[in-house]
Amino acid sequence: MSSLSVLIKGVGGRMGRAVTAAIAEEGSDARLALDVESCDVIIDFSSPKVTAHVVETAVQHGKALVIGTTGHARQDREKLAAQAAKVPCVWAGNFSVGVNLLFALARQAARVLGPEYDAELVEMHHRYKQDAPSGTALRLLEIIQEEWQRSASSAQPFALLGHPRHGREGQTGARPRGEIGVHSLRGGDVVGDHTVVFAALGERLELTHKASDRSIFARGALRAAHWLRRKPPGVYDMQDVLGLK
Ligand code: NAD
Repeated sequence: MSSLSVLIKGVGGRMGRAVTAAIAEEGSDARLALDVESCDVIIDFSSPKVTAHVVETAVQHGKALVIGTTGHARQDREKLAAQAAKVPCVWAGNFSVGVNLLFALARQAARVLGPEYDAELVEMHHRYKQDAPSGTALRLLEIIQEEWQRSASSAQPFALLGHPRHGREGQTGARPRGEIGVHSLRGGDVVGDHTVVFAALGERLELTHKASDRSIFARGALRAAHWLRRKPPGVYDMQDVLGLK
């Protein structure tokens, strides 16, 4: 099979440059495409405003698609995913292998511990990040919500089950049971830190992932692009690519 021809949307940005560097790495078996017609796959690391156009282009030209851009409103994401399903597409808020393992571990912890353990999410990113909470924190939130809804179907113990609480200030009163605290720190050049805390009276479990180099996302996105070559149309995520489902 010939090397994979990749068109990058957002090529001048931090992630675009990281993907370009990953393509140049020895053994990447990929090259940069000059235009849409000649590419095998479009990789999008730009801005949520751009994704609709990227999806339209991919569908129009019948090209595979890797979407890494974050910050879409939930309804927009659902609409765009329905369109993107017309071509083979991997859409992931985080392409790192470690974070995808964190997703699986957080799911297991939420399932075993249940909503009796208070859950809090903390993320930190560089000062330039445009959206908050991060796409990865939102995915962790969804995972905990999914597991709690599943375990609570017979007995609904807490009124606020899975309700996100974005930051706290003032006379908040005691922490309501079942809510999930979400906290976004911004500063410096932090590539991406995520911690999930499960706390009960007497013990606390913390799962932390720290990204120190964007190359992990870039290599993950390229891995997804190669994986798509063998796939029929549909929207997949990084858990599919890594066989974690
Ligand atoms: P960046 O600001 O450094 O780069 C964004 C790029 O998109 C720039 O080249 C910019 O010119 C281009 N762009 C922005 N708006 C545009 C428009 N309207 N039309 C055309 N081009 C436009 O940002 P970044 O740090 O590279 O991140 C890009 C996106 O990828 C963000 O949404 C970020 O959250 C996300 N991200 C995802 C992952 C992941 O693993 N999925 C990892 C890191 C970052």
